[in-house]
Amino acid sequence: MSPLEKIVQTTQTKSLQGDIPVYGQYTFGVAGERFFREIKDNARIMGATCKSCNLTYVPARLFCERCFNKLEDWVDVGKRGVVHTYTLSYLDLDENRLDKPVILAMVQLDGAYGGLVHRLGEVTPEKIRIGMPVEAVFKAKAEREGSILDIKYFKPC
Ligand SMILES: [Zn+2]
Repeated sequence: MSPLEKIVQTTQTKSLQGDIPVYGQYTFGVAGERFFREIKDNARIMGATCKSCNLTYVPARLFCERCFNKLEDWVDVGKRGVVHTYTLSYLDLDENRLDKPVILAMVQLDGAYGGLVHRLGEVTPEKIRIGMPVEAVFKAKAEREGSILDIKYFKPC
């Protein structure tokens, strides 16, 4: 079979055992670098404002997705927002059952368009509601590494 022939039946496929060395490096990009550096160094969540569309994007980004203007006005949007939606996870990443569920939420920061998907803490599943005010709880500065996990979780406020 040549590489240009198309397989139309799965019974025609073959498998080969072996390893394929694949290396990758993820970069935050220009806006992501600044966004995560602000979280790490200053415990600040930054947005980027498009004056034409009157929107502040969180996480901050380089261009407006509506009008494609370059976004150069960065603002500290604060630590507070509301639960836009949430879910409970009863399994860890290896599909092991957890003693208590992890609560994951989309948090829309006050005055911002978009938001952050993160954990909720200091709350039980029964108390959560859509629209509930929450605020970010950051790790101590010495523990922050420039990751979204520098925010430990969002808690009710
Ligand atoms: Zn715009």
